[in-house]
Amino acid sequence: MILRPGVTHDSRFFWDGLRERKLRIQRCAACGRLQHPPAPMCSACHSFEMAAIEACGRGTVHSFVVAEHPKIPPFEYPNVIVLVELEEGTRLVSRLRGVAPDAVAIGQPVVVDFERVDDELTLHCFRPAGS
Ligand SMILES: [Zn+2]
Repeated sequence: MILRPGVTHDSRFFWDGLRERKLRIQRCAACGRLQHPPAPMCSACHSFEMAAIEACGRGTVHSFVVAEHPKIPPFEYPNVIVLVELEEGTRLVSRLRGVAPDAVAIGQPVVVDFERVDDELTLHCFRPAGS
């Protein structure tokens, strides 16, 4: 069994974007602030006028942790969970693939990738830049 993200009216654009291999980040139409995860209201100016941008997919490792337990399908373990600082200036939690857990470094350049789970669900992950 695969645990699925709770998709809401406010986050549907994000999950729809992943299925199209696009990383979309919520952007406040009033003040321009980027925020992730998506929410109904801008946390800076409290506007409800939210739009989205397509992120370029490049970023750096801001922080990371290597998860061993519990083993949750469909992920592989050890699972490198990263907090990525996107070039656009916001951060999101993802997984880092294609690198040994002991070779991950803070500040490491990474690029987004997409993993299709099934027809309904595509997840984002990151890989070392240039790999
Ligand atoms: Zn705002």
